Amino acid sequence: MSGVAPGNESGTCSERLAAGLHVMAKPIGPICNLDCAYCYYLDKERLYPGATWRMGPATLDAFVRQYIEAQCEAAGEIVFAWQGGEPTLLDPRFFEEVVALQQRYLPPGRRCANTLQTNGLRLDDRWCELFKRHGFLIGISLDGPADLHDRHRVDKQGRPTFAAAWRGLEALQRHQVEYNVLVVVHRHNGDHGRRIYRFFRQAGVRHLQFIPLVEPLGNSARASVGAQPADLVHERSVLPEQYGEFLTGIFDEWVYHDVGRVFVQIFDEALAMWLGREPSLCVFRRRCGRALAIEHNGDVYSCDHFVEPDYRLGNIHQLPLVELADSPRQRQFGEAKETSLPGYCRQCDVRFACQGECPKNRILHTPDGEPGLNYLCAAYQRFFRHIDPVMRAMASEVRAGRPPADVMHRLRAARQAAESAGQPSGGRAAQRNAPCPCGSGRKFKHCCGQASGG
Ligand code: SF4
Ligand code: SF4
Repeated sequence: MSGVAPGNESGTCSERLAAGLHVMAKPIGPICNLDCAYCYYLDKERLYPGATWRMGPATLDAFVRQYIEAQCEAAGEIVFAWQGGEPTLLDPRFFEEVVALQQRYLPPGRRCANTLQTNGLRLDDRWCELFKRHGFLIGISLDGPADLHDRHRVDKQGRPTFAAAWRGLEALQRHQVEYNVLVVVHRHNGDHGRRIYRFFRQAGVRHLQFIPLVEPLGNSARASVGAQPADLVHERSVLPEQYGEFLTGIFDEWVYHDVGRVFVQIFDEALAMWLGREPSLCVFRRRCGRALAIEHNGDVYSCDHFVEPDYRLGNIHQLPLVELADSPRQRQFGEAKETSLPGYCRQCDVRFACQGECPKNRILHTPDGEPGLNYLCAAYQRFFRHIDPVMRAMASEVRAGRPPADVMHRLRAARQAAESAGQPSGGRAAQRNAPCPCGSGRKFKHCCGQASGG
């Protein structure tokens, strides 16, 4: 965390506010009713041999109290994030207790919210009534229609799970629970971006998140200069160019049809970054360190993707959460994301948006042989450059107090005009020689395209 004086373990409120603090809670550790081939958390069972895998009352009480205390008073809503494993393997009464503790410890005038990530299989009326009553925001994992979803998302007997997960989605819809669909993008669904997007839109889904699957094979592969990206990862991993096309294809569908109606997390994040705001997704922030993980027994780790003995910061029964989060070790972990960025990234035109993405994916060498380039570099260069004209136009609308959807209406009108003049646009969003989506009537390259991004 920047600007924290040495020895001032917990930092000032304004510093904490600027950095934010999020802790992903694992109340049931890695225990799950599914056996998804790509899950990075299932093997964490090895860290706690013989564990009972349930966050007990004393740990839950300490966590809720300390998490509330760790948030700056000026921060808005305090968001609790419950993950697994599969948190719905716990009894719903566990989450009733969560809400009761939050009400007990929340100072007057403060608000809190809960998010919960699930595979959807156990969502029934009882769960959905609870979520609705307490305003939980649910993330449900679905990788597309059945043929794409069932490729990797199988139960412990290797059986497909799409039908059961879909029933869970329908239960959320029936009870009008707020939800996001989370799609893991891998090698097998990575060529089907538009199909997946249209499938969910057709089903009434309004919030979507895409998570690229990158499974590095290990440090020996990391060391080789000039290695092909595909040789460094498990064959399930999405390919960089594939992910770039996946995102741009969906963006081009969205920007003509669904702005203000369907919300795709990476598009929202991009708009924030083009407005010069701090993104909420850690992967696009300059530094890490403010998205920690807590295991069922109160052990705190640097990040959900670094739940390993070397990254265990301590336990909340021994040291307060705020001290663990602001400890020199964790600060160092966070700053390393920025200090280890290769020169190639520092000179990159879309660095303001990408920031070298997540350090766990930095397994390539740059063209000039420096280690530490992100596996997904080609994807982000393709995607962020592609959306640049539209993002600049949307940012101008927001700055002028108008809705970003105005850009969609202008793009549609420009496309219709081009098509009636016999010049099909090919369905792509604005190009350098096309009319600027800001509506000025000038070419993009002579209008918003002249200004620098970010
Ligand atoms: S290591 Fe990756 S997932 Fe963890 S905080 Fe940093 S960017 Fe986020
Ligand atoms: S797009 Fe590539 S070069 Fe640019 S910041 Fe991201 S990883 Fe680095």
